[in-house]
Amino acid sequence: MDFSSLTLHEALRLLEDGTTTSVALTQAVFSRIGAVEDRIKAYLAHNEELALQGAEQADALRAQGQGGPLCGIPLAVKDLLCTSDFPTTCGSRMLERFTPPYNATVVEKLHQAGVVITGKLAMDEFAMGSTNENCAFAVPENPWKAGYIAGGSSGGSAAAVAADECFGALGSDTGGSIRQPASLCGVVGMKPTYGRVSRYGLVAFASSLDQVGPLSKDVRDCALMMEAIAGYDPRDSTSINRPVPVYSQVLERGVRGLRIGVPTEYFGQGLDPEVETAVRRGIELLEQAGAEIVEVSLPHTQYCVAVYYLIAPAEASSNLARYDGVRYGFRAAGTDGLQEMYNRSRSQGFGDEVKRRILIGTYALSAGYYDAYYKKASQVRTLIKQDFETVFRQCDLIASPVTPTPAWPIGEKSDDPLSLYLSDILTLSANLAGIPGMSVPCGFTSAGLPVGMQLQAAHFNEEVLFQAGASLEQQLGIAAKKPVIGGV
Ligand code: GLN
Repeated sequence: MDFSSLTLHEALRLLEDGTTTSVALTQAVFSRIGAVEDRIKAYLAHNEELALQGAEQADALRAQGQGGPLCGIPLAVKDLLCTSDFPTTCGSRMLERFTPPYNATVVEKLHQAGVVITGKLAMDEFAMGSTNENCAFAVPENPWKAGYIAGGSSGGSAAAVAADECFGALGSDTGGSIRQPASLCGVVGMKPTYGRVSRYGLVAFASSLDQVGPLSKDVRDCALMMEAIAGYDPRDSTSINRPVPVYSQVLERGVRGLRIGVPTEYFGQGLDPEVETAVRRGIELLEQAGAEIVEVSLPHTQYCVAVYYLIAPAEASSNLARYDGVRYGFRAAGTDGLQEMYNRSRSQGFGDEVKRRILIGTYALSAGYYDAYYKKASQVRTLIKQDFETVFRQCDLIASPVTPTPAWPIGEKSDDPLSLYLSDILTLSANLAGIPGMSVPCGFTSAGLPVGMQLQAAHFNEEVLFQAGASLEQQLGIAAKKPVIGGV
């Protein structure tokens, strides 16, 4: 049997009953990487030797009746989470040779849970993008269709999970970067409530929006990974000190008695008819399972692209000021004087999209423009947040598409940044409001491309997302469907 195609929870059961070992699971994952990685290009770095050492330790611990809840499970992480065992490039030439001296809190938490880390996954440079085409080193491809985008910015994470190159992965989501690639690659992805998961050691893009979260093969795996990574961290000043629920315990609760809101604004112009059909059918299934469906309105949705594309670049322009060629990261050679060293290091180290964001953000924050752009955007952000507060008095969660369209061919929109920004319209609001959101597979287009359903809930109500996500998954029965990759 090929262990790599198992879900995380299936693999865990085989470890627990002694049918397999962490070493065997790790070997299976690396042989899968060997078979499909040329086509998928999900990893920026992997290390079989190191992973097998970790697996041997996990097996030894388990034999003694010790080890954490995920002891021996091979997982991979997006390349913007600091790891002292691997370089952390953020998909940028700027950090090409940077190996952090410490681990991100979530990486430490995975270690404590007993996880074996297989490697680091491709992403858009500094998490800016929706297609992964902005990665300086590799552009992952959609496991369901060669030559198609895996989505972004956590495209490597989604592609690796969909292609069985790990049992689950961590990504980050600033405006949709977990949910959108999860949707396009047919896996589950969760952006937790802002403050639920530590950002310590997550390389910052837009600090008031960034959150780390899991991408997984099914909803139960997502719950198990959330249990491992969530929780208070004194090293992240925005981390919230609140107990972590046992998410995997709510999966059987069903949706009877839940009110699910369907926002009119999320089914508007530009929505692909096949995406709409799949999502509406999923909503019908939830209704048949006992949920009450109510139509709701989020009237400020139309402003979220404008608001996000001011606030995120503004924060990015400040966060990325640290890459000046002095302390770490890329430094241009042979420059004459400090100013030229700064200029050339940043010009050569950053790609076009990152430069575009730094320019927009610096402009929006500059004296004379701050009130008109950044301050106004912050005010409208509050209105977007209030929309959700109103809606969550009428329903327990919201169901919608994740993205207006399925995946598209690599290169199709790469020279049209505005159309890419617009394609984020359905995911940005959750980050602006700080609420949790989840993408759960809900069907396929006639061309065989996956479609996800987005579920969103009030702050710290991840449990209701797990409840509804598990119910949908169970009724659809598509979690086990796999892409065929180059005949394997
Ligand atoms: N696609 C969005 C952007 O380009 C979101 C990215 C993210 O969530 N990191 O900014």
